[in-house]
Amino acid sequence: MIKRSFTAGHDPRMGDAGLRFYQQMFGKWREGFRRDLLPDPGVYYTRELNKLSRPKTDGWTSSPCPFHEDTRPSFAVNLQSGAWCCFAGCGRGDLVDFQKKRYGQDFKEAVQALGAWGPLL
Ligand SMILES: [Zn+2]
Repeated sequence: MIKRSFTAGHDPRMGDAGLRFYQQMFGKWREGFRRDLLPDPGVYYTRELNKLSRPKTDGWTSSPCPFHEDTRPSFAVNLQSGAWCCFAGCGRGDLVDFQKKRYGQDFKEAVQALGAWGPLL
């Protein structure tokens, strides 16, 4: 009886060359949402929102809401975790939810636009 001693899986330590080899050996890898590839929330929201106030030590800050006509800063966002919430009722969510709502994208489109769609290692 032949005991299969390897498990089919890519070792991230092998890098891109290893990944290509893995692809040739085992066919196309599975792709999906890679949370680790999401942009830094601070960088992302600073680009997407204007008039961000200075964040508190826990990362929360506020800005006028990008989803409704807003004169007061009713949009709270955490620049560390990416969580956001509009107190006027536009909703709440994480960085992917923000991208979906802002640009009318579905989950996969949003994740791809954020550069976080990649091979599942
Ligand atoms: Zn709002």
